[in-house]
Amino acid sequence: MSIKTATESLTFELVSGLEIHVQLNTQSKIFSSDSATFGANPNAHISAVSLALPGALPKLNKEVVAKAIRIGLALNCEINQHNFFDRKNYFYADLPKGYQITQDNSPICKNGFLNVVLANGEEKRIGINRIHLEEDAGKSIHDQDPNYSYVDLNRAGVPLIEIVTEPDIRSSEEASALLAEIRTLVRHLNVSDGNMEEGSLRCDANISIRKPGSTEFGTRCEVKNLNSMRNVRRAMEFEFNRQIEVIEGGGKIIQSTLNFDADKGTTSPMRTKEEANDYRYFPDPDLQPISISDEWLAEIKSAMPILPKEIVKQLIANYGINKSEANILAEDIDLYGYFNKAKLTVNNQKSLINWLIGAVRTYLNDQSISLADFKVLPIQLAEVINLVDEKKISQQSALQDLIPALHQNTDVLAKAAELNLLIVEDNDEILSYIAEVLTKFEPQVQAYKNGKKGVLGLFVGEVMKLAKGKADAKKINDLIIDKLK
Ligand code: ADP
Ligand code: MG
Repeated sequence: MSIKTATESLTFELVSGLEIHVQLNTQSKIFSSDSATFGANPNAHISAVSLALPGALPKLNKEVVAKAIRIGLALNCEINQHNFFDRKNYFYADLPKGYQITQDNSPICKNGFLNVVLANGEEKRIGINRIHLEEDAGKSIHDQDPNYSYVDLNRAGVPLIEIVTEPDIRSSEEASALLAEIRTLVRHLNVSDGNMEEGSLRCDANISIRKPGSTEFGTRCEVKNLNSMRNVRRAMEFEFNRQIEVIEGGGKIIQSTLNFDADKGTTSPMRTKEEANDYRYFPDPDLQPISISDEWLAEIKSAMPILPKEIVKQLIANYGINKSEANILAEDIDLYGYFNKAKLTVNNQKSLINWLIGAVRTYLNDQSISLADFKVLPIQLAEVINLVDEKKISQQSALQDLIPALHQNTDVLAKAAELNLLIVEDNDEILSYIAEVLTKFEPQVQAYKNGKKGVLGLFVGEVMKLAKGKADAKKINDLIIDKLK
């Protein structure tokens, strides 16, 4: 089978809508005070509610509602100020209640959209049909014992939102751009850690094909539980090609739910629509409907931070940087927060941006650490940058010697002096290095005098070596030119 990418086929168009599950980063679960944190010992976070003991009653966590509203506002949704929970009934070992509490006909947010930017610079608007609240189920563990399955209920009751898009997606690129944008937003808004590897962000992709220009949709298949950007793209490409083969072979697509095998890159059927569950949704009688007052909604709206797209615009307008530079800062809430602190004391904010998106990121990469583990405080980095900009230390010694030596309480200037990094102000010393170098490179000096100006760089480099980096290259340059006149 020849693999065409979704945007390359001339005979068929891909149509897709995503159902994106986001695990909210609240401290406690959606309907109990059990901890919602990841990574504890099995069944460490299970009170009567998580265990579904008879008589245990759910109580809604207000923070969950606030976070859902925040993401809804960022996705341009209408907030459904009166909404309620439903029971979705099914039996599973890791679902002790026998039903999941979710929202069916009454989602908390609806009718939104998100504009995503594609590689070619074009913007594509993708409609958001709804966002609903729900609880996660527990986890069955089948691979620890040959005879028994185990159940870990720590995850039971962890808050999720499901973001359901309209079938507006037309390529795997659009799907991954949408997911990337949503990941940035949930992190930016402190709604979720957005970590796909740990399953905090995962999605089901509904996929169908049709002839370009057709106004009707084809029959869709739903690929479940895609847990990386790459797998979303792979599953879509595979499914697109599979459906084309079926149609071109004279067959029909059967509406079904599919698994994606990440090793093989293929999809396989889980169940078809005929076998689909009847969940018998009905409003949960144990929970009051949610009523979001105008005052509370207004409060949440006014506390919304400025969003990444707006930050990008401001950065471009204020600092004259280009869009990809601005994106780096705007899409990383930690880096942007660091910038906002450091900019208060740095003399040249453009310089700060260059350092953050260049040298600092490279440094963190080289050390394999995240910004959270970077020992240099924003105010200290600002001082380092000021010293470099004032030509008191060279950028090279700042990066190689000063920054690695800084800790939270270090006085930056004192440290630079202690490490002997301050640039020699003394012309005599530099002039003596210049004399030494010009003597040593006599033939090159002749060449320079005969018009081969390119050797100047060699002289500057050699003088800099003698000065152990503690000199200003421009000044050395000027002094040498002067000397060779
Ligand atoms: P259901 O209620 O059966 O789950 P929805 O209308 O909620 O169906 O749609 C679920 C998801 O499937 C949505 O993201 C929607 O955009 C997408 N979808 C619906 N029809 C199609 C189609 N023909 N092709 C691709 N995706 C579709
Ligand atoms: Mg659905």
